Amino acid sequence: MRLFVALDIDNVIRERIAQFREEMRARAPGVRWVGPETLHITLQFLGETAKVEEIKTALANIKGPPVGLNFRGIGFFPSPQRARVFWIGIEADEHLQPLVDSTGNALAPLGFKREQQEFHPHLTLARAGSGRPYSRPGDRPAPGLQLVRAKLESRPQPEFGTMTAHEFILYQSTLSPSGSRYTKLAHYPLG
Ligand code: ATP
Ligand code: MG
Repeated sequence: MRLFVALDIDNVIRERIAQFREEMRARAPGVRWVGPETLHITLQFLGETAKVEEIKTALANIKGPPVGLNFRGIGFFPSPQRARVFWIGIEADEHLQPLVDSTGNALAPLGFKREQQEFHPHLTLARAGSGRPYSRPGDRPAPGLQLVRAKLESRPQPEFGTMTAHEFILYQSTLSPSGSRYTKLAHYPLG
């Protein structure tokens, strides 16, 4: 199974983002938009694994307070000039990084490596081209996202609101040509 650990978002915020997404979707050829119902904040990607039961047990031992999240602003990976991932920014309170660290520590004994890069909380809204968030030689530009970038340049930072995450979730991802499907396998309360 292909697994990852993530936070889900409140429906009020989901709806505001869905509206913004509709506005941005116009005139952005070749951009693959994430379905609003599947928006999430990835804490750790586990990839293909058969150790589901061990993972569930490890995650059940994690303790931490609820996490406050503020959704504002947008950005691009790997950079605005080479945009392939379009995301909404997240300002998290001081409880998010410890939760990411606890998740990493809980899963390390099962052989899952922590991300090399610093954790940068974000909500992926669209992908273009290879969809890779980092640069590789021979990368091609994704013109559709440059149009999105141009559209946003003259606007103030969009604001999508705040929420408190009271749980984190183990998700299964099922890849398909029409986009990945996510299934919630287990919920872990915070607080
Ligand atoms: P698709 O791969 O079809 O574009 P997706 O990226 O949403 O769809 P998955 O690849 O299963 O689906 O990824 C699930 C979650 O884990 C997403 O939030 C994705 O950004 C994140 N993710 C995927 N691969 C990695 C990786 N190598 N490192 C960190 N996070 C990853
Ligand atoms: Mg992917």
